[in-house]
Amino acid sequence: MGEVRKLLVPNRGEIAIRIARCCREMGIESVLAFSESDDVRFVRRFFDDAVSLGSGDARDTYLNVARVIDAARTAGADALHPGYGFLSERAELSAACEDAGITFIGPRPQSISAMGSKAESRRLMQRLGVPVVPGYDGEEQSFEILSAEAMRIGFPLLVKASAGGGGKGMKIVRAAGELQAAIDSAQREALKAFGDARLLLERYIEEPRHVEFQVFGDGRGEVLHLFERDCSIQRRHQKVVEESPAPRYSDELRQRMAKAAIAAAQGVDYRNAGTVEFIVTPEGEFYFLEMNTRLQVEHPVTEQVLGIDLVRAQIQLAERGAMPWTQDQLQQRGHAIEVRVYAEDPDDRFLPQTGTIAFYSEPSGPGVRVDGGVMQGSEIGVKFDPMLAKLVCFAPSREHCIDRLDRALRDYVILGTKTNVSWLRRVVTHPAFREGLVSTKFLDEHSMHAPMPEIVPLIAGVLATSKRESERAVGEARLPSVWDELGAWGR
Ligand code: ADP
Ligand code: ADP
Ligand code: MG
Repeated sequence: MGEVRKLLVPNRGEIAIRIARCCREMGIESVLAFSESDDVRFVRRFFDDAVSLGSGDARDTYLNVARVIDAARTAGADALHPGYGFLSERAELSAACEDAGITFIGPRPQSISAMGSKAESRRLMQRLGVPVVPGYDGEEQSFEILSAEAMRIGFPLLVKASAGGGGKGMKIVRAAGELQAAIDSAQREALKAFGDARLLLERYIEEPRHVEFQVFGDGRGEVLHLFERDCSIQRRHQKVVEESPAPRYSDELRQRMAKAAIAAAQGVDYRNAGTVEFIVTPEGEFYFLEMNTRLQVEHPVTEQVLGIDLVRAQIQLAERGAMPWTQDQLQQRGHAIEVRVYAEDPDDRFLPQTGTIAFYSEPSGPGVRVDGGVMQGSEIGVKFDPMLAKLVCFAPSREHCIDRLDRALRDYVILGTKTNVSWLRRVVTHPAFREGLVSTKFLDEHSMHAPMPEIVPLIAGVLATSKRESERAVGEARLPSVWDELGAWGR
């Protein structure tokens, strides 16, 4: 504890910029720790200093604890904010910071470990009286035991990697005959992605909603909740659209979930910001899924409806040990929705796209916030996550917020690589989304591939300026590929 003077951010893209901006506002010197294989020209501008983690993909750089700690020492940093992804959920990093006398902006290693295993955290929740999905979370992993447990739970059933994250290592099993193959492939995937093959089994809930609570703990037993985010619009178990408040839910249900979230966090003496995730059945029954012991990608929707700055609060808590607010000071106002903008091709299995951003113009205006990580000229490679930016809109009502998001997505122009911008617009303007009829099955049930003719006149307008702009920005050599891309973009 004590005042933070120099803070290291071993991360990239929009989240690195998000944290650097906060440092500037707080008068804290910021240092970026980066991979030399990453295009950090834009991100670097927001930092006071930068240290290299060497070259290579995430494993060699952003995920290498020893290199990250060395970088902090080299830079003379007295604090470290891990962002999300990468090392943010590694107890090892929190512990290494403690050992090196560096303030870790996040929870203690014990809380991270306790929540790092989905099986272990499920067992803890049951002891605390927090409901979990009916399932099996034992240590015994033989096929005999797993299949006996599967028969007890019934089908459909979900096989999950206990160490999993980002929707990886998850298999739906609809009948007993599919079990062996699902277990084998989940184990292989889990071992490869997380270095841990252990599995758990859960009843597969049909058409649920994903509702999570932001929590904030002082590490001494006090935990506040910062209300919920509905992240039901998902593709392959990955969030695409997130909003707050959760549509169509009663205050009574949300209050009960808030209480369960607080109990979950208190169970591990939680310190700093975290998220307790629940799955909610169509009947309104809710179950604990997991706790993410870090800042979440979708934290801005909470910031917008509560009028707070979560990163600032995280740093303040780490400095002073005192909560930045009381529960009563936290009130939801209006509505916020976030969409994740990716370099990917919605018309071809959402394959990640690479290339140079030839023209970039992000939306602004009332109620619009863009947390972006790229600019004109940025190179999008294959080594890292293809998320380019997050667009967050806020307005007094959900209806107004959707209109605003529709407008902002129309204004968003990214050329040079395919993106999901037009596709996102179809999602948020879909009548079922407007009605708040969301579930994790939404994108399976509603096709988003209908053409949107209104976008054509806009493209005509953009072409004139973008050609000039892109010529200036990246030179003639890059232009042919840009104009090739436009054919598909204008569809
Ligand atoms: P979850 O979906 O597990 O609840 P989030 O929605 O907060 O968690 O997403 C975090 C995940 O997003 C990370 O684990 C990582 O796979 C991915 N991710 C997206 N963008 C980035 C990035 N810029 N850096 C690192 N990880 C990223
Ligand atoms: P991750 O660590 O990958 O985020 P989660 O356990 O949080 O894993 O689950 C991710 C998503 O998978 C959930 O948001 C939900 O859409 C789906 N899911 C998880 N568990 C179940 C379940 N028991 N039944 C139906 N869907 C589930
Ligand atoms: Mg999750």
